[in-house]
Amino acid sequence: DRAVEALTRLVRDIPDFPEPGIVFKDIAPLLADGAGFAAVISALADLGRDADGRPVVDKVVGMEARGFILAAPVAVELGVGFVPVRKAGKLPHETHRVAYALEYGEAVLELHQDAFTPGERVLVIDDVLATGGTARATCELIARCGARAVTFAVLMELGFLSGRAVLGDVPVEVLATV
Ligand code: IMP
Repeated sequence: DRAVEALTRLVRDIPDFPEPGIVFKDIAPLLADGAGFAAVISALADLGRDADGRPVVDKVVGMEARGFILAAPVAVELGVGFVPVRKAGKLPHETHRVAYALEYGEAVLELHQDAFTPGERVLVIDDVLATGGTARATCELIARCGARAVTFAVLMELGFLSGRAVLGDVPVEVLATV
């Protein structure tokens, strides 16, 4: 399909970034290709619809920073709202905070406490699923707001890191496993 073809052709491996031993999946060439970018946004948006094409989620969440680039156009395509999950100290209103370990280093993510109406169903989108720490922290933040992550979707899963194992019962959707 067009999304998988675009991912295969337009995502490049950058060895030893951001640290020696890490092979970084760089999506910049994909984002720079109009048809390729559109194909992956369309494929991600399909994950938020039922068989009749109706949205099955109330909000789309993206994680800073590459998650924003993907989640915002998916929200527009579904006709639902977008909510950012941000790194520490960026959100101006009262937040929930979760600290977690990264594939390289440690991080804190935050979400506005009033980002959701209780019970809302959320599609979470990021570019790459690695160890799953970012995804798990995000789903926990959403739960603390009284909402529910119903699907976690990424362009690519680094399968050898088994990140989906830490996500518990949140269904994981992956356009390509690398
Ligand atoms: P995790 O928390 O270990 O699953 O790492 C996932 C987070 O780190 C995501 O927000 C990704 O954007 C980022 N990340 C990890 N590895 C890569 C990579 O190879 N390419 C792009 N982003 C990556």
